[in-house]
Amino acid sequence: MKSLKDKIVSEGIVLSDTVLKVDSFLNHQMDPQLMKEMGEEFARRFAEDKITKVLTIESSGIAPALMTALTLNVPLVFARKQKSLTLREDLIVERVHSFTKEVTNDVTVSRKYLSPDDNVLIIDDFLAVGEAAQGLARITEQVGAKVAGIGIVIEKSFQTGRHTLIEAGYRVESLARIASLHDSSVQFIEE
Ligand code: 5GP
Repeated sequence: MKSLKDKIVSEGIVLSDTVLKVDSFLNHQMDPQLMKEMGEEFARRFAEDKITKVLTIESSGIAPALMTALTLNVPLVFARKQKSLTLREDLIVERVHSFTKEVTNDVTVSRKYLSPDDNVLIIDDFLAVGEAAQGLARITEQVGAKVAGIGIVIEKSFQTGRHTLIEAGYRVESLARIASLHDSSVQFIEE
């Protein structure tokens, strides 16, 4: 997606060979117009898939996932990283290790908001080794629902996540695919 790639080039900060910081439009300040365009693009790619629910993980997945859900006219559910005091019973729990924060969270979703007949589109901001997306897929499958696909805003294609998800049988759609962050420069996979 050209507008996203342009934004990454103009505002992204390469922190290391493996980490890209995009706090100015996705991970801290958010660009609503770009979020809207990304939501429309995900919705276009999954238009024929009869999606009934969009699932993401707090917090940075929420904005693109919400715009996708709005365009598809389905609810958005976000998995929580911290156990909420009001979220007590019937929880689906999966352990997810965070690549950037180097912590493991018990990620939870209430069974109230996912049912076996759901056809779920998983959305996340980044794909690195695929832990977050796999955790969301396991949550979906724990309730007997189907994973229709996984939509990623920024895929770091030089890490293992995409391969792992495709090997596991999931369809992965990424709006920007990064081939390398070497020498503080962002190189994309041209598609
Ligand atoms: P994975 O679970 O695929 O290993 O990593 C994906 C998660 O880690 C995303 O939800 C995102 O929050 C975070 N993440 C991974 N790599 C990066 C990165 O290069 N930059 C930022 N800002 N977040 C990342």
